[in-house]
Amino acid sequence: MKLGTMMTMLGMGAVLTACDCCPQGEAKALSQDKELRAVMDNFTQNEVPAATPLVEKREVELIRLVSLVTQQSGALLQEEVATALAQGLAPEEILEAIYQCAPYTGFPRTVDAVEIARSLFKAKNVKVDENRGTVTAQSRLEAGADAQGTLFGQTFRDMAKNGKSGMPTINYFLASNCFGDYYTRKGLDLNTRELLTMAILVNLGTEPQLKAHIGANLKIRTAEYVEQAIYNCLPYCGYPRTLNALRLLKEAVAEAASQQGPSASSGTLNAAGAVNATVAKNMPSKDWSVFPVGKPNDAYAKYFVGKSYLDMISKEQVGVGNVTFEPACRNNWHIHHAKKGGGQILIATAGRGYYQEWGKPVVELKPGDVVNIPAGVKHWHGAAPDSWFQHLAIEVPGEGTSNEWLEPVSDEDYGKLK
Ligand code: MN
Repeated sequence: MKLGTMMTMLGMGAVLTACDCCPQGEAKALSQDKELRAVMDNFTQNEVPAATPLVEKREVELIRLVSLVTQQSGALLQEEVATALAQGLAPEEILEAIYQCAPYTGFPRTVDAVEIARSLFKAKNVKVDENRGTVTAQSRLEAGADAQGTLFGQTFRDMAKNGKSGMPTINYFLASNCFGDYYTRKGLDLNTRELLTMAILVNLGTEPQLKAHIGANLKIRTAEYVEQAIYNCLPYCGYPRTLNALRLLKEAVAEAASQQGPSASSGTLNAAGAVNATVAKNMPSKDWSVFPVGKPNDAYAKYFVGKSYLDMISKEQVGVGNVTFEPACRNNWHIHHAKKGGGQILIATAGRGYYQEWGKPVVELKPGDVVNIPAGVKHWHGAAPDSWFQHLAIEVPGEGTSNEWLEPVSDEDYGKLK
């Protein structure tokens, strides 16, 4: 089959003819195997990104980097370092992503990858800030235990600090070396490192550790986001490990929900958290909606459970506000009053949420759904427990309009929602 035919078959245009990430003359893998190159590029550059809009471009590049390091790639890693630089990633971020592989893959793969990145930096005359460590021999244990505690909870922190029971040596190594020497470094923040650790473990396929780190990611990201992050490992680790990771994600979500559901007795979580502590508070990516998320909706925060954002997209003629709800966020029961006309129209624009009128069943809302709320009807609206949600709220003009805010939606009622 001719390359042109192949590309037409794959629905590709100029994917292969021009490479905007590699400078002219730079060696590219598969120069004679153009059909495999076309299949690979179509999958990595087109299909996987199209299926994973939640994962930001920078995070995609970092996931690709650590995947390639873990898979001991040479040619593709060199290309990816060049692409990451071209995408605006700092050389320090690239190096730190590679360093982050050391405690999971061991030094050999990491050192080889550093050599590849360094020779490219040298060829491109890229300068690097070499002082990124933040701990000393005295502070690394404490700092590592702090990072462990932040990501995994107090039990882990205490285990590392007490270190006397069980196997103190491995607990000490994990806290001081794995977390203290790497997670504390400048160049990548703690949450990004935890995302990359999960990606490294997806590639390694070490299941108990992967499940633990999927659990840690579910404390800072939605299940949907974690799923999409896993798909970004697929071109590098293949289907069997991806399928295993997706199964572990399902298990971790179910376990987190059963441990921290509305019937849990811990009582330490706030109302929104108690309903679903597995949800993410990471902001959705820019591609998530055609409308911006706007600013924190502080003026109305007292009438909401969880965090919401507001962007007034029209202040004239008819007021139109764009409201974004973080997962599990919803407004209190309320009534839009009017002597004549009035009421509210909701148009769902992104994510998944709910609307309910007093005494009626709850209605699920997805992008494109429209709700007409007559004046005088008691109701609430908000996000699903595991998804961000966004709707336009249109104020229907009327005479003598006012809003009456009432009690919050009970955890018992909201907790029944999926
Ligand atoms: Mn309303």
